[in-house]
Amino acid sequence: MSTSALKTKAVANGTGQDLWRRAKRIIPGGNMLLSKRAEMFLPDNWPAYFSKSKGCKVWDLDGNEYIDMCIMGIGTNTLGYGNDEVDAAVRATIEAGNMSTFNCPEEVYVAEKLIAMHPWADMARFSRSGGEANVIAIRIARAAAGKDKVAFCGYHGWHDWYLAANLGDGENLAGHLLPGLDPKGVPQDLRGSVLPFNYNRFDELEAIVARHDVGVIKMEVVRNEGPRDDFLRKVRELATKRGIVLIFDECTSGFRQTFGGIHKMYDVEPDMAVFGKALGNGYALTAVIGRREVMESAQSTFISSTFWTERIGPTAALKTLEVMERVKSWERITRIGEAVTARWMALGKKHGLPLTTSGIPAITAFGFKSANALAYKTLITQEMLKKGYLASTLLFVCTEHSPEIIDGYFAALDPVFALIKECEDGRDVAALLDGPVCHGGFKRLN
Ligand code: PMP
Repeated sequence: MSTSALKTKAVANGTGQDLWRRAKRIIPGGNMLLSKRAEMFLPDNWPAYFSKSKGCKVWDLDGNEYIDMCIMGIGTNTLGYGNDEVDAAVRATIEAGNMSTFNCPEEVYVAEKLIAMHPWADMARFSRSGGEANVIAIRIARAAAGKDKVAFCGYHGWHDWYLAANLGDGENLAGHLLPGLDPKGVPQDLRGSVLPFNYNRFDELEAIVARHDVGVIKMEVVRNEGPRDDFLRKVRELATKRGIVLIFDECTSGFRQTFGGIHKMYDVEPDMAVFGKALGNGYALTAVIGRREVMESAQSTFISSTFWTERIGPTAALKTLEVMERVKSWERITRIGEAVTARWMALGKKHGLPLTTSGIPAITAFGFKSANALAYKTLITQEMLKKGYLASTLLFVCTEHSPEIIDGYFAALDPVFALIKECEDGRDVAALLDGPVCHGGFKRLN
C-alpha cells in the first residue's frame, strides 16, 4: 500500500484507548512490557493495540495504518514485521507440529550456527525471553565462579538478581536505562549481591573488584555511547586476571552492527554472551552461549523449562539467521540509521533546535536540549500520529525502512520541528498537547 493511501482519521479515544482503559482495571500496569504502555507515548490518545503488522507498518483496531518509525516491536524485527521467509518457515513448523515428547532438531542447528559465528564459544542454551536468558547466564556464571557477587553495567531484565541492585539504594539502577524501578518483593537478603558500575568508568569497576569478592561481570557492550580509552579490553583483562566470568549481554545490541554480537567489532571476547530480541525476527528465542569450561557448570545446577522446548522459536531463528546473512541486514540497518541520525541533526539545525543523539546507528535516538524535552517528545508523537506515523525520539531500524519511507517521515517531521521552535521561542507547548505529557520512565499507572 502506498504512503498516500494512509488513513489519517483522528485516533483520539479510538477502540484501542477504550481497550487500554479496560486493560488497566484487570491487568496490573495494563500490559506485560513497560515500553508498550500507552503512557510511554501519548497517555490518552495512543491507539495501544494492533490488528495487523507487516514490513514497517502497523494497523490499529480501527483499521488505521501507521508507519512504525519508533520502537518496531522494541527491536524484535530487524527484517520487518511478518517477514515472508521467516513466516513461511514458522507455518511449515505449525503444519508439521510445534510440540512433542521428542526435542526439536532446530535447537541443535541454531546452537551450531551461533557457535560458528562466535568462535570463542563452544556451547549454547536457549530460552524465550531476554530476562530469562540473563538469569540463566548469571546462574551458570555464579556456579562456574563459585562466587555470588556480580558487578554489572546496563539493563538486564526484571528478575530478582538484577533488581537487587536497588535494595537499599533506589538510585543504583538510575544510570542503567530504566530509572525508578522499585525492588519490592525482591528478598532483602540479596542486598549488596550485585554492584553497579557506569559505562566507560573502568575505575569504578576496579574499585568494586578491589573491595568485593566478585565472581561475575555482566555488561552491555554498547548502549548509548561507544567504549572509550580501551574500556572493553581493560574489563576483559581485569576479568581474566581475577578469574571472573565476563558476560556480554547482547540482547539488544546483537545482529544490529555485525552478524552476531557487537563485541566482534571491538575484538574483545567474553566468556559468555546473551542474545534475544532480533534473533527470531519477532518470534521468541533467546540464547546464552559460552566457553565450554563455563557452560558445563549448567550441569551442576538445575536450569529447565517446558516451553524452552517448543519449536517455533528455533525454527524462526534458523530462518532469520539465514536471511540476515544473505541480505547482510546489519549493514543495511546501520546505513539507514546513520542517515536518519544525520537528517535529525540537519533538521534541528534548520530550525535552530540544538539536538543530542545517542545509540548505535540501528537503534538511534535524539533529544532536545530543553527543559520541555518530554513535552516536545509528546508533541512529536501526537502530531506524527495524525499523519500516520508511530514516532517518538527513538528509532529501531529495520530493513523495510526504505528511502521513500524515510523521506516521507522527514517531510512530516519538518513542520513539527517548526512548531517546537515556536515553543522554544515562547509559545506554550501545553496548549498544543491534547492530553498529558508522556512518562519518561517507570511509574505506577493507578
Ligand atoms: N538485556 C538487555 C540488554 C535488554 O535490552 C533487554 C530488553 N530491553 C533485556 C535484557 C530483557 O529482555 P526481555 O525484555 O526480553 O526480558
